[in-house]
Amino acid sequence: MVFAMALILLVEDDRNITAAMVRALTDAGHVVRPVGQATEALKVVTEDQPDLVILDLGLPDIDGTDALRMMRSVSAVPVIVATARRSEADIIALLSAGADDYVTKPFSSGHILARINAVLRRTQAAVAQAPTVIIVGDLEINPRQRRVALGGQALQLTRREFDVLTYLAERVGQVISRRELLTEVWNQSRIGEEQTIDVHISWLRRKLGETAAAPRYLHTVRGVGVMMVDPR
Ligand code: CA
Repeated sequence: MVFAMALILLVEDDRNITAAMVRALTDAGHVVRPVGQATEALKVVTEDQPDLVILDLGLPDIDGTDALRMMRSVSAVPVIVATARRSEADIIALLSAGADDYVTKPFSSGHILARINAVLRRTQAAVAQAPTVIIVGDLEINPRQRRVALGGQALQLTRREFDVLTYLAERVGQVISRRELLTEVWNQSRIGEEQTIDVHISWLRRKLGETAAAPRYLHTVRGVGVMMVDPR
């Protein structure tokens, strides 16, 4: 598989590492957006929707693991963590906080490029397998272009909202548990995170112009989960 050029968000406060990484990634044909702080990174993730994030854990403003969790709450973007922490417990914590992969510092540019390519291969393969278009009622979802329209009007969804909506639209008429959404869409299975799902569902409802009390597409099945329904 040939890799498309990727937009890579590099979150790193060390100028020397940043300069070396920008050079290596640019030489490999990627577009790099370097930022030095987690707060900036969160803004770029939501606004520019990068294809991949490389996240240094030792940042000046927010602890890297917290930054990762915040990123995960708004985006499904693949994240490779760069860390000096090497203990198994640290690595497990990172992966359960939503990292797709990690590299331990110091690392070579060849090493990080191989990791990047592996992660991109997984995400691009998932995109390539997606159907061309899913239609439910007036809702039209294009998984490859990651576009959604309702009654012909484009909807602006976050990456995560898009993933949830697509997952449900591929399973119209099936009740999907919050646990399944967490595992399949969030790639997480942490107990107590189910409320995150409710928050995203309520944001989605707002964008679809409906409410929990008067649902059209997204029906909550109390105590079980949520089901997409064709309103026609
Ligand atoms: Ca650092």
